[in-house]
Amino acid sequence: MEYQYWNPEIEKMPRPRLEALQLEKLKTEIGYALRTSFYAPRLGAAGIKSPDDIRSLDDLRRIPFTTKHDLREGFPWGFLSVPKEEIVRLHASSGTTGIPTTIYFDSEDLRRWAGYVARCIYGTGCSKSDVFQNMITYGLFTGGLGFNMGGEEVGMLVIPSGSGNTARQLRLMRDFGTTVVHATPSFLLHVESKMREAGVKRESLALKRAFAGAEPYSEDTRRRIERLLNIDVYNSYGISEMNGPGVAFECQCKNGLHLWEDGYIAEIINPDTLEPVREGETGELVLTILCRRATPMLRYRTRDLTGFYTEPCACGRTHRRLRRIAGRSDDMLIINGVNGFPSQIEEVLMAIKEVGNNYLIVVEKEGVLDRLTVKTEVGPDSFTDDARPLNALRERIRTTLQASISISPRVELHEPGTLPVSEGKAVRVKDTRPKDA
Ligand code: ADP
Ligand code: ZN
Repeated sequence: MEYQYWNPEIEKMPRPRLEALQLEKLKTEIGYALRTSFYAPRLGAAGIKSPDDIRSLDDLRRIPFTTKHDLREGFPWGFLSVPKEEIVRLHASSGTTGIPTTIYFDSEDLRRWAGYVARCIYGTGCSKSDVFQNMITYGLFTGGLGFNMGGEEVGMLVIPSGSGNTARQLRLMRDFGTTVVHATPSFLLHVESKMREAGVKRESLALKRAFAGAEPYSEDTRRRIERLLNIDVYNSYGISEMNGPGVAFECQCKNGLHLWEDGYIAEIINPDTLEPVREGETGELVLTILCRRATPMLRYRTRDLTGFYTEPCACGRTHRRLRRIAGRSDDMLIINGVNGFPSQIEEVLMAIKEVGNNYLIVVEKEGVLDRLTVKTEVGPDSFTDDARPLNALRERIRTTLQASISISPRVELHEPGTLPVSEGKAVRVKDTRPKDA
């Protein structure tokens, strides 16, 4: 395969040079951090009073972790390293966990960010002749403007369609010959369902690729989207504390997400002991940004669970690859004492052909026990008025789920297109159990 690199020198940089570059950039970031009211005392307490107190990448471990709680404590200006008049943009996390966090950018920060997103987009084989429809929420959420800037940097025609309004999305795709889209995986599945409903033929669209991210999804979901829409789907990982999109992305090999190590230092830790895991093991991703001046962020605990592939990628990039993110440590469901992740349920559902494109996990208290209900749509080709095949499908879903998560769920089947669809990140779990019970 002919691989395409936005910045070959950086993307294929030999690791010793890459690590030397990281050290140099880390020292620069430490300089910025020392100008913030949040980090100055913390770094001081760790014996770091100037960038020169960092002599090797190992010195990073002298710095305490930064948590979501710290961000709240430092809200609104504690992490700002430049005078306010130098910042030109702010973004905030989408608030999945209800805690506001705000990141500020100066104009160079924005330019650099656009460069990382462009590198991701270009690395999937896109070029300036592509038409890119960004079907994700704009506004404070970073996926809108982040991909918008990256697409423009590549030179594509960018259609800032935002999320939702599927009929208009399909019209735009047809009118302007959209070749690439960006969306959450759940919205892509929703668009596909709507296409079928409206009788829009796949062949009437010029679609070739999709970037899917902002929420966890399984390999089976990727394959489902690829099969239904006949396109290539690339996994995109971003987090607003680290700018947003442009942190890690799949290359044309579609086998793990290259984490751009000239822009970020990644550690994988055991979330309980806070010690690094062994190379290749799964743990919590901790990130330090190396490409932002206005809001430095050191050893940020993302709570995302993943690990690195240990073997190099066929594309020749030297930046390590993350495994698909299975979810956050705080997504874990504890049902009658048994632990499970929503992603395990999704994996089972999406591998069953007769299951439709949307599902919802409900956890309730029933007396003293927890009750797990999995509501799932049936695919349009498998929906029927005949109870027998549906009962058999329901039973098959239940036993497969039980084998996978060791919890016996109640399974409800729903007609195609009847479960709620979210315009931003999908809300897949409804947990109505009283807190602290
Ligand atoms: P919030 O914390 O409010 O959700 P963000 O927009 O910063 O706000 O979301 C970042 C989070 O989204 C990540 O920490 C991760 O949990 C999730 N995420 C983003 N991209 C992916 C992806 N490709 N796979 C799995 N999870 C993802
Ligand atoms: Zn690669």
